[in-house]
Amino acid sequence: MVKKNLKSEYHKLVDLKRQEALHDHCGIFGIYAPGEDVAKITYFALHSLQHRGQESAGMAVSDGRKLRGIRNLGLVTSVFNENNLSKLKGFIAIGHNRYSTTGSNTKDNIQPVILASKHKVFSLAHNGNVINAKMLNSQFKHMKRSASSDSEVITQAIYRAPGSKWREKIMNAAPHFIGAYSIIACSKKRMYAFRDPWGIRPLCLGRLKGYYVLASETCAFDTIGALFERDIKPGEIIEIYKNKINILGYIDNLGKKPSFCLFEYVYLARPDSILNNMLVHEARKKSGQILAKEAPVKADLVAAIPDSGTSAAIGYASALGIPFGEVMIKNRYIGRTFIQPEQHVRELGVKIKFNPMKQILEGKKIVIVDDSIVRGTTIKKIVEILKKNGAKEIHIRICSPPVKFPCYFGVDTPNKKNLIASEMRVKKIKKFIKADSLHYLSLSGLVEASGQGKNSLCTACFSGRYPIKIDTHFNKHILEDS
Ligand code: SF4
Repeated sequence: MVKKNLKSEYHKLVDLKRQEALHDHCGIFGIYAPGEDVAKITYFALHSLQHRGQESAGMAVSDGRKLRGIRNLGLVTSVFNENNLSKLKGFIAIGHNRYSTTGSNTKDNIQPVILASKHKVFSLAHNGNVINAKMLNSQFKHMKRSASSDSEVITQAIYRAPGSKWREKIMNAAPHFIGAYSIIACSKKRMYAFRDPWGIRPLCLGRLKGYYVLASETCAFDTIGALFERDIKPGEIIEIYKNKINILGYIDNLGKKPSFCLFEYVYLARPDSILNNMLVHEARKKSGQILAKEAPVKADLVAAIPDSGTSAAIGYASALGIPFGEVMIKNRYIGRTFIQPEQHVRELGVKIKFNPMKQILEGKKIVIVDDSIVRGTTIKKIVEILKKNGAKEIHIRICSPPVKFPCYFGVDTPNKKNLIASEMRVKKIKKFIKADSLHYLSLSGLVEASGQGKNSLCTACFSGRYPIKIDTHFNKHILEDS
């Protein structure tokens, strides 16, 4: 009974945490490198991709005969250790950090998915959200256990697709997946990667000592000493075998326009990653500069909500010639789990996370730059704390347009009614958070900052224009309803 209560309290906490902010999705990594300690390299790469998912981590390693895996709930550093990594010998490894977007956060849903039948061994790591997973799942009636995540559905669909070789199965199954998917997979002897024809989530290819590596973001390559080679193209399917890369083909892109996630530049990706030839830090800095042109203000100091607003705040400050500095210190060891169920403790949570510096704030007009506002509760609390600590004026500048629509492509957004910008106009939000002024970056300004063509991006959470037709009844735990 006590155990049950504890469990429900934990789920309440997780739910509250989810409601408060936009969450990352997943980070994936793969390496084909005979003679190297692929498990350890994957560990370090996953560590650098930790920002993309903190609920669980996993790895599958093949030595050509057997595929072994370690998967568990928790951060990379708590799932893996010297002892369990030393047991993962082989020359192919794929790894995954998970934040659940389809399927809840249970042990069953930890990736990579590992499929081991008598004659077939296959493992798959997925970043994104396949929105027709329920329909695909309904075709696997004779399975002992129904798939509980879209990634498991993808794996089953590949396994059941026509073809005697994995590459044929992937080629036959992939065109049936609708939605966002960047995938790294492996059989006993080969590694595969493919990306949806819209190219919504990132996936890049690199080289380490002449071997091939794949990752969600280039920051993973920097960590392990690999060199970025190129992005996997939208719809491209590749196979890596005997250290040669073989482009197997492209998923039909008829009627599908490239739609890379614009929010990767705002918040999801690490600032030191390069996405579509653009350093994310530069894109964020530029967004701050454009925001300064669109919504200048006279102030004594520009500061960021650490860390996500930092690059944009630097850009905003430099464009207006205002000093950039810190006004509150972030407790970096608190993780993302500080929100408590009780409202008063939840409010305290903001103070636990950010400690304001009274001596700097006193009597000053301050600009606070952040990446986005989701529900508005955190920014409201921050304004209140800064004012209580002596700030004369607080001007909020958001380096993205208002988030008004939910994401169905792998980012965990609240329902429309919980997105403050979908319920209130900017003027009302300003009043609600009690700021002296509030301005958002325009969509055209954000697109310009990203350095990408406006027709090559998904902007749906800002514009409501989804690149793929969405069933409005879709929800991220759709497989659990079946
Ligand atoms: S809806 Fe927003 S978060 Fe989702 S893929 Fe599109 S731009 Fe990215």
